[in-house]
Amino acid sequence: MIHALNVSKGFAGTRAVADLSFSVLEGEIFGIVGPDGAGKSTLLRMVSGILPPDTGRIEVGGVDVRTDPFRIKENLAYMPQRFGLYEDLTVEENIHFFGRVFGVSRREIREREKGLYEFSRLGPFRDRLAGKLSGGMKQKLGLACCLVHRPRLILLDEPTNGVDPVSRREFWKILYGLLAEGVTIVVSTAYLDEAERCNRVALMYEGRFVVTGRPDEIKAGIGRTLVEIRPSDVWKAEAALRESGEFGSIIREGNALRFFVDDAGRVDARIRKVFSRRGIRAGTAERKVPTLENCFMEIISGGERR
Ligand code: ADP
Repeated sequence: MIHALNVSKGFAGTRAVADLSFSVLEGEIFGIVGPDGAGKSTLLRMVSGILPPDTGRIEVGGVDVRTDPFRIKENLAYMPQRFGLYEDLTVEENIHFFGRVFGVSRREIREREKGLYEFSRLGPFRDRLAGKLSGGMKQKLGLACCLVHRPRLILLDEPTNGVDPVSRREFWKILYGLLAEGVTIVVSTAYLDEAERCNRVALMYEGRFVVTGRPDEIKAGIGRTLVEIRPSDVWKAEAALRESGEFGSIIREGNALRFFVDDAGRVDARIRKVFSRRGIRAGTAERKVPTLENCFMEIISGGERR
């Protein structure tokens, strides 16, 4: 559905997107996850055709975004972080307005409205002003407005940012529903738990994809083992591990410390060596299944250590 080759974009000294190449397959949900400033919005704006890349080429459905932006827009919807809902129009009026903007006839909008209310559960609120909706409902209305023209590809820029956890779960249910209908979805997020829900995910950092793959592939591909220890003094232990420089990023969770090791077999001996001089005790290191967040932190800190 999307092919991008050597795409770059800079703004006055910042390289927002740096020589990026990737593909998104038809019918998948592809997540772009990364911290603020990683370049996610810039990338999505380029794929949607509203921002031209400095270098490289992007094709959507086999069509070059730059040479034929109008053909692209028929099949694509882009929901930016601040989607331009009209707050002084009702839910229904917004849907009609955006439908008309996308060239959908009034009759077709009326036919499609019912389905949009059903999936978004906005039906009971159709006469409410958009400005009076909750954050989660506004995002659902934004999505509904993007879907009136039945796009085959939707690009969502941090659609659940600042949305409460219950509404976030509901929003993801809607995305899976769209996926079941064959819509291809690209979604950016700063939430690592959302990245776990994607078919494939790219971890974006400083304008690059540092790793791309299925969440389980990324976890397996890291090639290191995550271990957890519960030392007698967690603060002292954390400082000692960092000082030793032998271990990667160290995550503290309550009284436990987690970190990746190359050789899980020797880890207890190595830890004892670091701790014994400082009078810290730690039981046996326990193996843990890493989350994507653990892997992302490890990959980024590995890059910074090099
Ligand atoms: P993200 O969506 O991951 O938070 P962005 O794509 O918004 O990242 O930003 C990537 C980098 O590009 C940041 O350093 C940001 O400040 C810069 N940037 C983005 N848009 C502009 C712009 N219009 N003008 C100047 N700098 C920009």
